[in-house]
This record gives sequence, C-alpha cells and structure tokens, in this order.
Amino acid sequence: MKLCQDKVLGRCYVASRSIKAGEVVLKESPLVQGPSQITGPVCLSCLKSISMHTSEECPKCGWPLCRDPQCRMSEDHIPECDWTMNKRGRKIKISNFTSPHPSYECITTLRCLYKKFHQPSVWEKLMQLEAHLDECKKSSRYENDQKNVIQFLLNFFKLDQDFSEEEILKVCGIIQVNAHEMPLTEPGYMAIFDRTSFIEHSCFPNLYKSFTNSGQLLLRAMKPIAAGDHLSICYTDPLWGTINRRHHLEESKYFTCQCDRCRDPTEFNTMYNGIKCPEHQCKGYVLPHLTVGSEETWICHDCKKTTSPEHVHKILVKIGEDLSTMEKQNPEACRKFLKSYDTGRFLHPNHYYLTDVRIALAQLYGQTNRGGIQELSDDMLTHKIALCKQLVNLTRTIVPAEGRIRGIIIFELHASLAEMGRRRSGQGQIDSAQLRAFLLESKQYLEEAVWLLQYEPSILPEGKILVQAQENLSSLNTVLQALHASIGDSPM
Ligand SMILES: [Zn+2]
Ligand SMILES: [Zn+2]
Ligand SMILES: [Zn+2]
Ligand SMILES: [Zn+2]
Repeated sequence: MKLCQDKVLGRCYVASRSIKAGEVVLKESPLVQGPSQITGPVCLSCLKSISMHTSEECPKCGWPLCRDPQCRMSEDHIPECDWTMNKRGRKIKISNFTSPHPSYECITTLRCLYKKFHQPSVWEKLMQLEAHLDECKKSSRYENDQKNVIQFLLNFFKLDQDFSEEEILKVCGIIQVNAHEMPLTEPGYMAIFDRTSFIEHSCFPNLYKSFTNSGQLLLRAMKPIAAGDHLSICYTDPLWGTINRRHHLEESKYFTCQCDRCRDPTEFNTMYNGIKCPEHQCKGYVLPHLTVGSEETWICHDCKKTTSPEHVHKILVKIGEDLSTMEKQNPEACRKFLKSYDTGRFLHPNHYYLTDVRIALAQLYGQTNRGGIQELSDDMLTHKIALCKQLVNLTRTIVPAEGRIRGIIIFELHASLAEMGRRRSGQGQIDSAQLRAFLLESKQYLEEAVWLLQYEPSILPEGKILVQAQENLSSLNTVLQALHASIGDSPM
C-alpha cells in the first residue's frame, strides 16, 4: 500500500499492487492506548474492569491496578503514574468504583500528551492525524471535554505550563476521530494507530479489520483489489441502516459518507432501508435518497412518489421501541417480533431491524446452554437453516468484507445442515448418498467459516468459534471418508 494525496479525502492509501482476497494488508501496533473516555475504574495497565476488592493501589501514584503482578511493571501506566506524582505532586485516591468514573476521562488524552516529552517521534505521528478542531468546538461533547478533560489536565495535573488549551483540545479531537474501540478486554478500550488512520472510510469497504490477542490491528483484503484502488475500512457499524450510519459518521467523524452503498438508495437491490410505501395500492417501498447538507428524501422505488421523513420516522420509532424493549436473549420473543413485522406490511423483508433479530435468533436456536442443536425441534432446525441462508446471502451482498458476522452465521449454518442430514438419515428418510450430499454442503460452509474467521483472536468468542470450526472440519472429513468407503463411489 502507498500513501497518496486525494483532492477530497486528503491523504489516503491505495494498493501499490494487485491484492488477492484473503491477503493481510497491514498489521500494526498502536501509537497509544488507554481506557475509553466513559468508563468505570479499570486497571491502568491491562485495562480490565476492577472493583474495590479486586484492585490495589499503585504504590507510587495511588491509581488502582488489578492484582496481576505484571500490571505493576507495565510501561503503559507510566504517563499518569509519573505526572500524578511529579506534576500534581501527590497520590490520587479512587474510592468510588461505580461506573462511569470522571477521573478516567482524561487518561488517554494524558497518555498522548506525555509522548510530546517522552517519545517525540510518536508525538509527531499523532500530530499528523486529523483532529477536525473547528467541528470539535461546535460538537455536543465540547462542553464536557472542556470541563472533564481539558480543565482537569490543566488544573488537577498542573499541565498549564506545558500545554495550551488549544493543544489539549486538538488531542481530544485526534482521539475522537481516529481511536478504534478495542473489544479485547471487558470493558473495551481505545487505541490509536498510525497508518490505519489514513485508510479511508466506506460502508462497503474492501478491507476487514480485526485484532490480535496482543492488541495489534490487522487489516485483510476480503475481495481482490486492483493496483491503484483506494483501500477502505468501515468506521461505523456496517449493519446499521443508512440514516443511522450517516448520523454516526457526521457526529463522531465529522463527514458525510458518499460511498457507493450510501449513494445507492436500494443498497445493491437489497432494500435494506425499505419502508412500505403509504400510497394506496402501491406495493413498493420508500427508500432514502441522500443529499449532502440536508435531510434525506424518501422516494418509492415503484410509484416514485415522495413520502415525508416524519411518516418514515414514526414507523421506525414505533418498531424501534418494540425492538429495544424485546428480550433479545429469548428465541420466543424474537420469533414473535419476526411474525409481527416480517409481513411486508411495514418493512421490507431485508430491513435492518428484521436482519438484527434474525442474526440474534439464528444464534439462539440450538445454543449450547439451551441443550445444543440436537434439542431443536425439526421445525426450529428448518427455520434456523432458512434464517442462516437468508442472512448469508444478504451479508454477502451488503457487507462482503464483514468477516466476523458472516463467519459466525456460516458456522451456525454448517452445524444445522450436518444435524439435518444426521436426523433424516437416522429416521431412514435418506440414503447414504443423500446424507453425503448434506455433509458435503455442510463442509463447504465450514471451510468458508474457517477462511473468514482465520485471524480472529482466540480470546474473543469468534476466535473460539474458529477453533471449534477447525475441529469440526477434521471430524467431518473423517465421517465423509468412512461414508465414501461404505458407498464405494467417487471421492468427495
Ligand atoms: Zn491489570
Ligand atoms: Zn502508578
Ligand atoms: Zn457510506
Ligand atoms: Zn409507492
């Protein structure tokens, strides 16, 4: 990859050669990492959640650390440890372990500022990153940052000799615009990366972002990329609807997305945002057409009539309330929701609300703590397979680079197909050759799941699914070989 200058985007990365699907394009360690701005007390070394009983004070500075002896030696904690004693002049006392805790809001900013004097090369890299200073000052969080971060650092840590207000505000902006939420600990934390920060956003990106166990960021091509193509990742949740993605990007990253997906109201013919057209007798769906700088217009792709955003909003709020109050861990509640809304009366069958519930239900059906897939009724198993197939098709079209969610759904699908084959064969409904067809289809999906999830870190649930998928693949191969020997026809 090479860094280029684009008239609209500023600096961005393009492929310097053609890249194959699956290739790792970049692996990098963070410039700075620290707790999320809004968090309860965490160990300032490993960033895991702590309570009064699971922590002890750092003997030097008083900030609580977890009891892992390694955490006392960690270099990550040096900035606040040093400045608490050598700028503030006395130990800190955290006695309230409820969440969120205001004293932690400034830590990641402090760690960035510390680089100015202690690692100037990293500081220089940080200063190259986009801060959107003017937009920052107009944003809703400015007042809070001003009080809880900037004034706190200037007065409490007595940094007023070393930094101006403007300089600290710039660092706050750099963190807000560039930091990645890292899901590796509970709660998650923030990390800022150098080269990844210059990779542009798309809601239909060609790179997939994952992490390693040790907190590096890993970018992998999920489709073939030609030399000269822009490289992109998704800065928001790619499974959200267009309007939600737009608001999130405008509020937190200060730009309006104009990627291929956002510019296509049908979202590649999936109708992912489709709301039933209110025109009498029209069977079409109204879809959002975006204009930069003004509210979207909702136009029916069938009768071409415009619907007021208020009408759409009313429907989305009503169903959104049902969705947010629904017990998402309960398969029965999910089924009921789908029954009410998967009728085409209000939402397109591919609508993101329905997709959200399908993703939940596809995983709930046959969960280990519910007795596993063997305990599912035939109807539920059939429903699970249908849900998974529908989701696999949709996610392939709309978020092909999103390896995690598709990998998980495909894993569920492989298990359901294998179970269906076993059941039918056990009940004498199919012969060995038909069973083998089920198992071969299952194996094909399983191989795809392993391919999609192959870099997931073993400390995360998807990394555990990867291990399970690899084990299943080897046992499935054994079963298929035995079956082949018993049938005695062409190999798999
Ligand atoms: Zn720790
Ligand atoms: Zn300390
Ligand atoms: Zn977009
Ligand atoms: Zn219409």
